Order: sequence, then structure tokens, then C-alpha cells
Amino acid sequence: MRKKIVAGNWKMNKDYTDGLSLFSEVINMVKDEVRGDQQVIVCAPYIHLHSLTALGKGYEQVSVGAQNAHQETAGAYTGEISTSMLASIGVEYVILGHSERRQYFGEDNALLAKKTDAALKSNLKPIFCIGETLTEREGGTYFDVVKSQLAEGTFHLDAADFAKLVIAYEPVWAIGTGVTASSDQAQEIHAFIRKEIAAKYGDVVAQETSILYGGSCNPKNADELFSQPDIDGGLIGGASLKSRDFVDIAK
Ligand code: PGA
Repeated sequence: MRKKIVAGNWKMNKDYTDGLSLFSEVINMVKDEVRGDQQVIVCAPYIHLHSLTALGKGYEQVSVGAQNAHQETAGAYTGEISTSMLASIGVEYVILGHSERRQYFGEDNALLAKKTDAALKSNLKPIFCIGETLTEREGGTYFDVVKSQLAEGTFHLDAADFAKLVIAYEPVWAIGTGVTASSDQAQEIHAFIRKEIAAKYGDVVAQETSILYGGSCNPKNADELFSQPDIDGGLIGGASLKSRDFVDIAK
């Protein structure tokens, strides 16, 4: 069976000490309250990552992720961080292709394909984000958009490498807006994504790929969303900044 995952995306939030407190609360609550077969991931800003992997040692259920990484292994790229640097401090996951990276930093599918390769080469597991804008949703092109983001960003991989990915469907119109996709809307597109994966890699890989929903997920709506057959958990922004809310979503 595929993994149930709840991943927090702190985005550009939490100073150093606040981040440490939040993470400590999360690992303690998860240990006591969250079923052992569920994976919890905290994707924090770079300044936190080393301390968080140290704090999280021994808590297998909680992993640490980054929110981005550069596509090259090393070199003259002032201000950037490579996937091997992240791996060297015990980071296990990296969010790639978040809509904010696509929108504000011009990251396109071709670049994201390179970042995916770099992450896998360093043994990081990408949480690869796809999702349509409001205009694309209203224009009815959202299946095509999601399909090309997925195919152009990841379908160059062989099946063994694709199987290391976590996919996150995040409709841009639902991110940080308080508007959640209905469970039917989300299930429809998750099933479509799984069908596309099956067409490319076969049923076994498709059935084992965790596909997370993201976009204004909170403790009230998580239950219904996550009970859909093709929704395997969530990528949580705003609600991951409060330990109680985040762990309630995981529960
Ligand atoms: P949100 O963000 O939960 O605040 O809508 C989700 C995300 O951007 O990953």
C-alpha cells in the first residue's frame, strides 16, 4: 500500500528560535498521537534545516524537507543551495515546482525536470507540485495543464526513479485563499493523475505513488479530502505554522 503523508510547507516563515519550537512541538505530538504508518514531513526554510534534522534524529515518522534546490551540483551560483548540500545535512525531501516558484521565480517544466534529476541523484525524494490557475480551471483546460506539468517535469524518468517521487496536486486558486477544492473536484483530478501515471509506468507504480492534495487544507476539511480513494494526504501551508492544527490534520 502507498504511504499516507502529511507535509508542512512553512514557506518563508519562522525565525530561527520560533522554527525550533514549532518543530519540537510537532515531533512530540506526532510521536504520541499519529499512527505509526503515516509519514509527517516538515519543509522549512534553509536556515532551519540542519537543526531540524538533528532534533528529529530517532523520530522516524518525522522527516525534514527543503522547499527548493538548485539544478546544478556545485559552482558559481551565488545564493543557491544544491541537492547534495541538503542531503549532507540529513534532509530527505525537497518540494519542487511549487506554484509560487513557478509564478514568482519563473520555474518552468524544463527547469523542474532538471531539478528533479538533481534531487534524485542526491537521494532526495522530490515532492513534485502541479496544479492549475483559476483562469485555467474556469477555461476548462485544467486536465491538460496538469498533464503537461506532470509529463514534462517527470515523465523522462525511468519507472524506478519515478517511484521515488511524491506528487502534490495544488490548484493555485486554492492556495492561501481559504477556498478549498471540494473533495469531488480533488478526487476527480487525483484519479486523472493516477491514470496518467498508470498509462506511462503501469498500474503497480501508479498504485504505489502517493498523491497529496494542497490548498487551504485545515483540520476541518482534511478528513473528507483524505478519505477520497486517490488522495493520500496533504501538502499544508498556512495550517502547518501551528503545531496543533498541523498534527490534527495528520491525525
Ligand atoms: P495553504 O498552502 O495550505 O496555505 O493553502 C498550501 C501550499 O502552498 O503548499
